[in-house]
Amino acid sequence: MTAAVGQRILALNAFDASRPKGDLPAATQALLQRRQKAFGPTSVLFYERPLHLVSSDGVWLQEADGTRYLDVYNNVPSVGHCNPRVVRAISEQAAKLNIHTRYLYDVVHDYADRLLATFPAGLDKVAFTCTGSESNDMALRIAAIATGKCGFVVTESAYHGNTWAVTEISPSSRPGQPLAPHVRSVRAPIGDGDVAARLEEDLKAAIASLEADGHGFAAFIADTIFSSDGVAADPAGFLAPAAAAARAAGGLFIADEVQPGFGRTGHRMWGFERHGVTPDVVTMGKPMANGIPLGGVVSRLDLMREFAESAGYFNTFGGNPVASAAGLAVLAEIEERGLISNAADVGGHILCGLRELAGRHEAIGDVRGAGLYLGVEFVADGAPAPQVASRVINGLRDRHILIGAAGRHGNVLKIRPPLIFERQHADLLIEALDAVLTAQ
Ligand code: PMP
Repeated sequence: MTAAVGQRILALNAFDASRPKGDLPAATQALLQRRQKAFGPTSVLFYERPLHLVSSDGVWLQEADGTRYLDVYNNVPSVGHCNPRVVRAISEQAAKLNIHTRYLYDVVHDYADRLLATFPAGLDKVAFTCTGSESNDMALRIAAIATGKCGFVVTESAYHGNTWAVTEISPSSRPGQPLAPHVRSVRAPIGDGDVAARLEEDLKAAIASLEADGHGFAAFIADTIFSSDGVAADPAGFLAPAAAAARAAGGLFIADEVQPGFGRTGHRMWGFERHGVTPDVVTMGKPMANGIPLGGVVSRLDLMREFAESAGYFNTFGGNPVASAAGLAVLAEIEERGLISNAADVGGHILCGLRELAGRHEAIGDVRGAGLYLGVEFVADGAPAPQVASRVINGLRDRHILIGAAGRHGNVLKIRPPLIFERQHADLLIEALDAVLTAQ
């Protein structure tokens, strides 16, 4: 697979197990050996020189030898690594009661009510899962049952998770392979021109193709910050015509909020709100409980009723008391500490710094994003430059900053630190990026 055709999402910044390991510390070599023995080929590690982490605090991660790394990669611990309120909530609940949701208990209802209060009117039913993949899997089933159709439309480098069904709607997990017969893709809403009109036009063509081939159209599903496509945020509102076209064709619009949700885009709680649309189904995961496995699906009564009557749904661990307690603590932190406006402020500060760098470093082709979800696109001679992204990622690691890449070509630096990131941290990032780009 060449970089020009597409990068498998798990290959981005991956450790190459076949490389000589003599330069790595003895303890790291020993751990690598144990990992290889236990996990074999499913083991995925970041970096040419993998990190051996032992502890964390706020926006910092610490290695075994005491080296601290600024975390610009991890959006799961969104209210901070080892957030004291979350840690307290989890431990107190674990010491009291932790069981599945077929009995009544308070904390899950406190959480469900508080979560649903963040959604627009009509989106007032929730089901809890443990992961984003499970949430999207359920959303596909809801759409198929509601429409009686099985065709789905996604963006060209979408990633929606790891079950069989969601892998089939995740082109970034299967580069070089044809799309599954019931799936069509549209171009990522990135680049020059009217991205809203192009997305709408592509979607209509994709729907027509699904219908012509007898699959019919069940839903258009989009990550509303288009993270694996390489981050797309502007102009705000560009998703609205596509969502309307999906409905006009008798299908649903599913917003995958696993990446942008919980305030990350710095404008209210949900990525879809920047686009002025109300989805039929919303899926959530990652930052929902700051690292405790918790995901969710929010939808309308009519859709949830049809789904439940047809299939029923039970998830042993989804929304259990410990997960719900963690989820409640996360919402309290976001609200009480003003983390959405912090995302807008610090994200805006980073964007300014990146624009200034783009004026001085010709390797930067574009900077874009919203709040604390930003992308820096690298180019060389007008073409995507994943090799630059890779050098920058490893160069930043050498300067004790952790970051990752995204995009069809793997040439977009993905900036999505914990939401408690401050301007002083942003300055460390910009200075280091400047130094790495100057040195390369
Ligand atoms: N949707 C999106 C947009 C994602 O980025 C991911 C995870 N990277 C998922 C769904 C799947 O979530 P999980 O890994 O929790 O199953």
